Order: sequence, then structure tokens, then C-alpha cells
Amino acid sequence: AKDQGRNTYQFYTEGMQEREVMRLELDKDLSQALANDEFVLHFQPQVDLESAEIGSAEALIRWQHPRRGLLPPIDFIPLAEESGRITEIGRWVVMAACRQLARWRGTAFEHLRIAVNLSGRELDDESLVDHIQEALETHNVPPHQLEVELTEEIFIQNIEHNLNQLSRLHKLGVHLAIDDFGVGYSSLGYLRDFPVDLLKIDRSFITEVTERHDDAVITRAVINLAHNLGIRVVAEGVETMEQLAFLKDHHCDLAQGYLISRPVPAATLEKALSEGTMVTGI
Ligand code: C2E
Ligand code: CA
Ligand code: CA
Ligand code: CA
Repeated sequence: AKDQGRNTYQFYTEGMQEREVMRLELDKDLSQALANDEFVLHFQPQVDLESAEIGSAEALIRWQHPRRGLLPPIDFIPLAEESGRITEIGRWVVMAACRQLARWRGTAFEHLRIAVNLSGRELDDESLVDHIQEALETHNVPPHQLEVELTEEIFIQNIEHNLNQLSRLHKLGVHLAIDDFGVGYSSLGYLRDFPVDLLKIDRSFITEVTERHDDAVITRAVINLAHNLGIRVVAEGVETMEQLAFLKDHHCDLAQGYLISRPVPAATLEKALSEGTMVTGI
């Protein structure tokens, strides 16, 4: 039994070492990716349910890997969060979003806002707000055209620090959205204390909102709660016309999901907007 225990342990450490090597390699690749400009942003439009117009788009990162093809964020963001590389990636994301807003200036798309995702970890960086301000100034972008999406984890750890960072960002004019709302076990009191402009109802509530009474009740309650606090609401993961109709009936402000469009390159979004081929109303 003792020998077996030792063998198991050896096996375990070898496995650990292998994983560590892979992680170091991936981190090296990520640093190369930044240097070689291998990241791209795809954009998923958000429809205003009252006007049936596309007013904004969420920027979602992908990695055009030289050997492995186009990688989704799940393949590299968690590791980048662990290693701290996410800070540099986040700076690239904010700069790329501002560059896109600048490209749209003077075109039919100049009214669009862009929402970028930030990890809680990125808020730890004291110079985050300065960097965002710098990106806005570099590309001459009005701050209200940029939104940041953060999950409820910012309400759970480093609360004072996070509140300070987000207050500075809000003063700048950048809007704050709470992502994946309703799954994060945080206290609702933080909606009162933090400068929240938007709540994004997590996809898990929307998927069966037209079939399950409890999901419908929760979704309606979140919409009412938000509206009573002066916060706008986005529904994530809208895939059917029935869901879109439900959300419109219950005065949800914005909808986002595969029904309207998958995340796509900027040029594809521009084409769909120009040709009016997206589902934007009922
Ligand atoms: P998220 O912010 O919750 O983004 C929504 C995810 O749901 C996206 O996956 C999107 O493609 C997907 N989605 C949108 N509509 C639908 C739908 O109708 N049905 C279904 N089944 N899925 C839908 P994606 O692009 O793979 O991103 C995954 C996560 O990676 C994001 O979740 C976000 O947490 C993270 N992420 C993406 N871009 C960035 C970034 O630039 N920085 C950071 N820190 N995280 C990012
Ligand atoms: Ca998001
Ligand atoms: Ca989300
Ligand atoms: Ca998420």
C-alpha cells in the first residue's frame, strides 16, 4: 500500500510538471501573440428592444493562433488571468475597441457603442483607468461610447479598491455593466453602492424563460429591480423569437444572442447592418 502511495504521488508530480510546462509555454505564446498582434475582436450586436435598432456591440476576443487556428477565449483567458498576462491583453482589447470606434467615425456606424469585458483581476492594476483614458484620447473617442463589463466578483473581493477604480472610470464617463448577473452570489446592496449603468441577465435565466415559470419570475424581477434603481437591462443568450417577444413585453431594454447575430468580425457586422439582414424586432 505504501509503495502504491509513492507511485501515485510520483505519477501525480510528473503530471503536475507536465501541466506546468504547458502553462509556461502557453504564457510564452501569449506574450508572442501580443507582440505579433495575433488577437482579434469579434463583435456581437445588442438590439434596443424599443426602437429595434442596433445601438451597441460587445467585443469578444479571439486568438488567431499561427498553428492552432482561431481560438475562443476559454482556451487562453483563464490562464492569462492566472499568470497576470491578462493585464496586457486587456490593454490591447481597450485600445482595439477604441480604434474600432474611431474607424466608425464619419460612417453609418458612428453611433455604435462598444462593450469590452474586463476580468476582476484587471481591476487590481492601479493604472487601468489611466490606460483607458489614454486609449480614449489616442483615438478621440467620447467616453460614453465605451462600456466595461465586469462580473459580480468585483462586489465580493477588494470591494473598496474596486469601488474606487470604478468610480474613477465612471467620472471619466465610461459606463459599467454587470455581466452574468444573477449567478454570482453577491449582495444586492452593491447595486446601490457601485456606479452601475447596465445589468446583463445571465444566459442561464433566458434559455428557458418562455418555458419555465421560475426563470420568467426571476427575469421579470431583475428587470423591475434594475429599472427602479435607474439601471438598464440587457438579456444575454437570446436564441428564439419567443424569448425576444417575452423580453420586449416585459420592457427589457436590450437583447443580445445568436437570434440577432453571433459574434462576428467588424466587417461582417457592418455588412449585416448595411443590408438590414439581422433580426432586430418582432
Ligand atoms: P461573456 O462575457 O459572458 O460572453 C458571452 C459569451 O456567450 C460569448 O462567448 C458569446 O459568444 C456567447 N453567446 C452569445 N450569445 C449566445 C447565445 O445566444 N447562445 C449561446 N449559447 N452563447 C452565446 P465567448 O466569445 O466564447 O466568450 C466567453 C467568455 O470569455 C466571455 O463570456 C468573457 O467572460 C470572456 N471574454 C471574452 N472576451 C474577453 C476579453 O476581451 N477580455 C476578458 N477578460 N474576457 C473575455
Ligand atoms: Ca460579457
Ligand atoms: Ca455574460
Ligand atoms: Ca460569462
